[in-house]
Amino acid sequence: MNRIGENAAYYKGERNIMTVDLSTKKFMFDWNNNHQITRVSITRIIAHEFSHSVLGTIPDNNATVIKTDAIMKSINNTRRATTDNYFDYEG
Ligand SMILES: [Zn+2]
Repeated sequence: MNRIGENAAYYKGERNIMTVDLSTKKFMFDWNNNHQITRVSITRIIAHEFSHSVLGTIPDNNATVIKTDAIMKSINNTRRATTDNYFDYEG
């Protein structure tokens, strides 16, 4: 866990690394809730980075997003749906 604005995970055999910024303020449209703007939860970020680590996918692609959405379905049913649905939001 960090506070330097970094969310990342790598699948590299013996040197797997995962880091999550608990203060991250990212938003997305929730495709399961009329596309409402929703703050990306810490749970989703952890699920997302776990997905990178098990899939070995860098940068984001559909497989990463689909895997994360599948995890989140049983937690709060938010759905990011597309790779570009992730942004900073003021107001
Ligand atoms: Zn990612």
